[in-house]
Amino acid sequence: MIDTHCHLDYHKFDSDREAVLERAAQAGVERILIPGLTLTSSRSVVELARSHPMLYAAIGVHPTDVDTYQVDTLERLRQLAIPHPNPSPTGRVTQGEGKIVAIGEIGLDYYWDTAPHDVQQKALREQLDLAAELQLPVILHFREKSDAADGPCARDLMKILEEWANRLQRGKSPLAERPGALHSFSGSRETASRAISLNFYLGVTGPVTYRKERQELIASLPLECLLIETDSPYLSPAPQRGKRNEPAFVALIADKIATLHQIPSTQVAETTTANAARLFDW
Ligand SMILES: [Zn+2]
Repeated sequence: MIDTHCHLDYHKFDSDREAVLERAAQAGVERILIPGLTLTSSRSVVELARSHPMLYAAIGVHPTDVDTYQVDTLERLRQLAIPHPNPSPTGRVTQGEGKIVAIGEIGLDYYWDTAPHDVQQKALREQLDLAAELQLPVILHFREKSDAADGPCARDLMKILEEWANRLQRGKSPLAERPGALHSFSGSRETASRAISLNFYLGVTGPVTYRKERQELIASLPLECLLIETDSPYLSPAPQRGKRNEPAFVALIADKIATLHQIPSTQVAETTTANAARLFDW
């Protein structure tokens, strides 16, 4: 299995990070993707990813941290991805020695509303353009003001993603086939269909183990569009609710999807692992 979204860089893991990784490996987790939230945290997740064979990194500025997004942030993210612009004979640039596999997490957050919507949207568009330039998929976060399944946040996000994905398609970018993932998807069925029609994957997290509307949606979606993730240390799945989440618990999410789809857990593990390999090109 792949934990496609885990904040393993947080201090909550400082005392036992190695043990957490061991438990993950024992549970059958092969790789873990750690997203950045700011330029500073992006640098540290890249460093962490380089320190362990299981770990990979995404770099970017999260919508609730957009106050840290300065005029030179985009250029610094680019430099982090390509420290030595030295394309291989195939023309492909290996980002961060192959450890930087996505731009994220980026997106829109109208729940905490820490920055005006136009400011959030500008940072999102610029980072999407950087992703297109670097041919890296994106990890997207979105959250409505009301925490409802649908609303202005999903609408604004999908409008921006449709424009971006259409540009990728017109430019015949290979990224059009694997543009990114909507992480910890909590949106409506309509948003899910729109995202899937643009080739985005949807990340499934702990709430699928206890929230009925999430279960109904995931049961109706093809396995080929799904990723599993923990979003550790948040969103612990049942029966671990209330505890610190960790990558080993991604197995509980695979089990729940298996129950919902009435298939064996191994099939969920294999398919979502293949989905992640396609998305992150590893
Ligand atoms: Zn996250």
